Amino acid sequence: MPGFELFGDAEKKQVNDVLDNGVLMRYGFDGMRKSHWKAKELEKELQSTFQSKHVQLVSSGTAAVSVALAAAGVGAGDEVIMPSFTFVASFEAIMLLGAIPILVDVDDTLGLHPESVEKAITPKTKAIMVVQMCGSMADMDTLQNIASNHNLLLVEDACQAIGGTYKGKPLGSIGDLGCFSFDFVKTITCGEGGAVITNNKDYYINADHYSDHGHDHIGNDRGAETHPFLGYNFRISELHAAVGLAQVKRLPEFLTIQKRNFSIIRDALSEIPEVTFRTVPEGGLESGAFLNFFLPDLETTRKVIEGFKVGGVDACWNYYDNNWHYIRKWNHLKELKSLFPISKEVTEGLKYLKTKSFEQSDHYIGRNISCLIKLSWSETEVKARANKMAEIIKAALKS
Ligand SMILES: *Cc1c(COP(=O)(O)O)cnc(C)c1O
Repeated sequence: MPGFELFGDAEKKQVNDVLDNGVLMRYGFDGMRKSHWKAKELEKELQSTFQSKHVQLVSSGTAAVSVALAAAGVGAGDEVIMPSFTFVASFEAIMLLGAIPILVDVDDTLGLHPESVEKAITPKTKAIMVVQMCGSMADMDTLQNIASNHNLLLVEDACQAIGGTYKGKPLGSIGDLGCFSFDFVKTITCGEGGAVITNNKDYYINADHYSDHGHDHIGNDRGAETHPFLGYNFRISELHAAVGLAQVKRLPEFLTIQKRNFSIIRDALSEIPEVTFRTVPEGGLESGAFLNFFLPDLETTRKVIEGFKVGGVDACWNYYDNNWHYIRKWNHLKELKSLFPISKEVTEGLKYLKTKSFEQSDHYIGRNISCLIKLSWSETEVKARANKMAEIIKAALKS
């Protein structure tokens, strides 16, 4: 996945354009900037990459989720349904707005389980936030139906799924709003950065103003801009955008390598009958950022992880015991450890986490191994790696 692996001259050239004129700010300073508008250019590129009418760059993927929800009017006391398996950023971004994250089970897609989503809907529910984890997707048609039947927003966190598609559409472009991250370990990196995409002009204008203090961005005189509403600072810098611009142009090249490496490993492991793969919904194509597979039980899974460690197969994880990506170890959330007082509504609204069972999620996450697919591996290296992995899995299954 990580675009940093293939960092090179194109990135340096873009950054130097910005350093040469010294305008590190994405807005204003028209006279000084010698026509370099890297953030604007990157937004344009991303419009075509993600087949979306509007793109707003922001400072991170986490910011993108907050800005997307804010742009659509999600706020204090609103409930946002999200999966039990994701990155901590998902609930952070919701809670920043005073809204309440409602965690529900995932299924064998490793994304939101539609039935669990439907059961979690209450009069307070405002949005369903689907997270397209590890390069693949949840059952989007079913989720979209649920969202429209209940008049709910569908927000897509596609931070890990750049390049994946569903029925011909880029992941991130299916919901009302989509969110991307360009942090250091994502498919396209710009150090720190993110984007909100949408076809809804009002949401776009809201995202544009909200992410820059509520400034309306009308006219050339920054000091004369008015504030139609309150905002915050989630801006990306021109320097970061410059790096992203170089990277996005290389995305087709990255995806070709990623998919090749993914297929070599998948093909090798598919010869082991006990290994099964995550379900990819009909019409879906994975980005190849990660290969996710299931073993028969938690014990074998742990043995394989141990075998990988001993055998030098890096970048493979079982998220069951991981405190970044899975509900089981999110004690800081369950115990609501906040530096500052949290509203009664959110405190009450999160009590369910102390008792709710995530048995179905455990069933899938406990048996899942997720392997990062790197761009820097040569074909020979991937083949050797695939054979080594198969060997270790077979040994663990026999023991
Ligand atoms: C990386 C990531 C984020 C957050 O992105 P940052 O740019 O690091 O803030 C959010 N959601 C998912 C699924 C991610 O993988």
